[in-house]
Amino acid sequence: MPRHYLKKADRTPKTDARETHDTVARILDEIEAGGDAKALEYAARFDRYEGNVLLSPDEIAAACDQVSDRLKADIRFAHDNVRRFAELQKSTLTDVETELTPGFVTGQKAIPVAAAGCYVPGGRYSHIASAIMTVTTAKVAGCQHITACSPPRPGVGVPPAIIYAARICGADRIMAMGGVQGVAAMTFGLFGLPPANILVGPGNQFVAEAKRILFGRVGIDMIAGPTDSLILADGQADPHIVATDLVSQAEHGYNSPVWLVTDSRALADDVMARVPDLIADLPEVNRENAAAAWRDYAEVILCADREDMAACSDDYAPEHLTVQAADPDWWLDRLTCYGSLFLGEETTVSYGDKAAGTNHVLPTSRAASYTGGLSVHKYMKIVTWQRATRDGSRAVAEATARISRLEGMEGHARAADVRLAKYFPDEEFD
Ligand code: NAD
Repeated sequence: MPRHYLKKADRTPKTDARETHDTVARILDEIEAGGDAKALEYAARFDRYEGNVLLSPDEIAAACDQVSDRLKADIRFAHDNVRRFAELQKSTLTDVETELTPGFVTGQKAIPVAAAGCYVPGGRYSHIASAIMTVTTAKVAGCQHITACSPPRPGVGVPPAIIYAARICGADRIMAMGGVQGVAAMTFGLFGLPPANILVGPGNQFVAEAKRILFGRVGIDMIAGPTDSLILADGQADPHIVATDLVSQAEHGYNSPVWLVTDSRALADDVMARVPDLIADLPEVNRENAAAAWRDYAEVILCADREDMAACSDDYAPEHLTVQAADPDWWLDRLTCYGSLFLGEETTVSYGDKAAGTNHVLPTSRAASYTGGLSVHKYMKIVTWQRATRDGSRAVAEATARISRLEGMEGHARAADVRLAKYFPDEEFD
């Protein structure tokens, strides 16, 4: 049986990419030319905010005082998990060296970038967890300057819990500015910030496009735009949990695709029947987001068997991938394209989004076909070095001179010749 779409999306998040690109490129150009004043102008236009941009220690302390003890404990719990997972990642990055040929030693080191700009989204929701994910990993990596920036709410500023999370996770500076202007400020070093070497963090299509345009001039973690999620479920899955999980990710935004891939027509029908009621039961803003995402972007795909389901999932290369099907080890072994994998009904994307410890900044729009999510590794430059004795350099010098001449690169050849002549004056080399 071929793959069969029981529900097909009308749109994909790429539908309006050209328009977004033009808007973002223009704003970046204007801010680069106009500096702080232009960034403030855009903050006033998009976020109706005219308060202080770089938060002072007093403002940070006052915001932290507003956070309840219960929420502080939850943030510290999540931070502890994310930090310990990041430390595990860092432990896999040991410096190495080897003597490739006698007397010729080569090595590799991991060096953290100096300045990280962490974008913490905040247009629709207060993404406290994004502050934890981005700042903690930058801190564990060893970045010296960590800036967190997040959109201010009109008349309120950055939500206190985001400020608290950014501070305890290790941000050196917290900036009340969102969208393209926030990304631009961190990149161009506005408001006295150290210019970022890398921009990390999720955001809407404007933030994601700004990072894409600036990549090259600065590093980026990846394109982490509108969230997407895929659930692989077999006939044994609980339709209520599958439907609830789909809706939980559709609430991210009107353009957040959710996909159900199954080999059970009965399960698909059951889930599709439940989703509208679950959406209708959400609070207003969440309901509007989830309803639009379900209507325009969601898909339900019926496959022949689990191998076909896995192949379909790898084609979609989803940001979040959930398996609610028998034999989790088979799926872990078989699946190759996803940002983060959630195996079994006992865990869910929400856990990873908020507190489990794996990072929630993940590749979207099929970027999982070539990259994983935010990790300590993203902040590290993997650099190499070499050192040789005079005898050790001989074979390399001879090969270098011959290869260089064949390439027509006489200057390179002479850099080898001059050493051979100095170290082995009594010998002839061809
Ligand atoms: P956001 O902070 O990303 O964007 C808000 C900013 O968008 C505002 O400050 C404003 O400056 C700018 N903006 C709004 N309208 C604009 C326009 N017409 N032109 C230019 N700029 C404009 O917050 P958000 O909008 O709530 O989006 C958060 C996004 O982050 C969602 O799409 C969500 O799915 C995504 N997300 C992704 C991940 C991931 O790992 N991929 C994780 C969490 C959240």
